[in-house]
Amino acid sequence: MSFSKLGLSDPIIKAVKDLGYTKPTAIQKQAIPAVLLGKNILGTSQTGTGKTASFVLPLLEKLIKVTKRGKTPTTRGKRIRSLILTPTRELAVQIEASVAQYSKYVDLSSMALYGGVDMEEQKERLVDGVDILVATPGRLLDLLHQRALYFDEVEMLILDEADRMLDMGFIDDISKIIERLPLERQNLLFSATINEDVRKLADSFSGDGFSGIGFENKEFYDDLEDINVSPSSTSADTINQWLVTVDKDTKSALLSHLILDQKWDQALIFIEKKHGAAKLVSQLEKRGIKADCIHGDRSQAMREKTLAAFKSGELKYLVATGIAARGIDIGALTRVVNYDLPFKPEEYIHRIGRTGRAGALGEAISFVAMGDFKNLCAIESRLKHIIDRKEIDGFPVRKTVPVSILNYVPKHQRAGHTGSDNSSPYYGKNKGKKGTTKPSAK
Ligand code: AMP
Repeated sequence: MSFSKLGLSDPIIKAVKDLGYTKPTAIQKQAIPAVLLGKNILGTSQTGTGKTASFVLPLLEKLIKVTKRGKTPTTRGKRIRSLILTPTRELAVQIEASVAQYSKYVDLSSMALYGGVDMEEQKERLVDGVDILVATPGRLLDLLHQRALYFDEVEMLILDEADRMLDMGFIDDISKIIERLPLERQNLLFSATINEDVRKLADSFSGDGFSGIGFENKEFYDDLEDINVSPSSTSADTINQWLVTVDKDTKSALLSHLILDQKWDQALIFIEKKHGAAKLVSQLEKRGIKADCIHGDRSQAMREKTLAAFKSGELKYLVATGIAARGIDIGALTRVVNYDLPFKPEEYIHRIGRTGRAGALGEAISFVAMGDFKNLCAIESRLKHIIDRKEIDGFPVRKTVPVSILNYVPKHQRAGHTGSDNSSPYYGKNKGKKGTTKPSAK
């Protein structure tokens, strides 16, 4: 199937072809016609499956269609015609960059709006009105309160990474924004995972209900037909995932060893704490590895500069806290490292989704210390498989991490088994403590 069969106009198809897209991805095939029909959409899809184009392309199509009927693109100053809400600045910048690429042959304006930078410039840009505004909730509300923009001409609302926005505590801001939007509008909500909170949010802003796309839990919606996008609870199968168990105090040495020994060309390295990020960069540099970091305490300008250096290949190793790296699409990213294992399975899936995008091959490596065992159980339960373990010469672990319950095989079937308990799926340190090891996939 080609893009032209989806009901998109020539200038949009031309822009997509310029980017080298030859055919629509699964989510694009489903979402584009549905959005063009004016449906409210609740979409889930694996990360990196072309989700952005699945909502931006039909949005452009709809906005140019209205123009053809005689309306000017943005009729009045300080007005916007569509609003894309995202959890982070980086994602807002990235989505707006995609909008600019996809809309290069049509006469529509777009802008990214986010905090941490000067407001005055943003206000000036809004004076003439903008067709497509990509915004983070906080700054948008600030400018709304200052009457730098009005919502009365919004035709479409898109919430991207809704689960992440809720995790980040944006529910009040989102509710305030939604309250101020015109009632008659189209709503699209995309989320890597659909949980109760996401569903509540979706229900709260669409009286007409949603068409589900890419759904895992079909029972939520009655009107699902022919829906067949891989569920988001699993990760793209183009990603080679493996883990290495490690003691906390040898993590940075292990990372340096892997970078040098396996001649890694590139790595996005996720770390839990902001101060840990800067420390890791200096530890790597002491071993002759040039790296840099992004986290919430660095200025927006620095974050953008560092990210641009990483995207261009000038910087090969980027250490990032989960939030700072959320949603970042780095063309052909080959490798992500969970230097710290995330607390939630959803976060693991988001993170490793930074690689293996749009069918490319990728590698996701996790460092797992004894204290991560419960998280590991939850992640592997969510993935529904055990992640391959590799042993790295010269890095024996003092505190072994038991194998999660998913890997349980009776003792007599275990090759090279060294554990001591054949009645429990857990052995080693956690022997007998079943309560602490129960997989808790949410
Ligand atoms: P996304 O899931 O929107 O972050 O997209 C992931 C990557 O896939 C981006 O680099 C897009 O440029 C790319 N992409 C999106 N749609 C297509 C397509 N139909 N064919 C090839 N690549 C695509």
